[in-house]
Amino acid sequence: MSGVTVMRYEKKVKPKCPYCVTCPVFECFRIESTRNVFINLYCWGNFHKCERMQARGRGEAVPDNLLPNGFIFPTRKATIGNL
Ligand code: SF4
Repeated sequence: MSGVTVMRYEKKVKPKCPYCVTCPVFECFRIESTRNVFINLYCWGNFHKCERMQARGRGEAVPDNLLPNGFIFPTRKATIGNL
């Protein structure tokens, strides 16, 4: 025994929201870094906290400009979509 402890690094893969590819809310963001903040906060790993997902779970119509934090994006014309 050398006395050296080797720790194994395991990268955790965050589960992604099933709507990541088609979610219309991403069209609200022109600045990529802003979009990435929401992706990191909600879409990758925490999508159960997303207001869009919660509204969908309640059977409510989800406006395209409903942000994951529950705010309405102000300048986009509101439309109702599936998600
Ligand atoms: S914003 Fe919400 S519904 Fe859209 S991809 Fe992200 S977690 Fe899913």
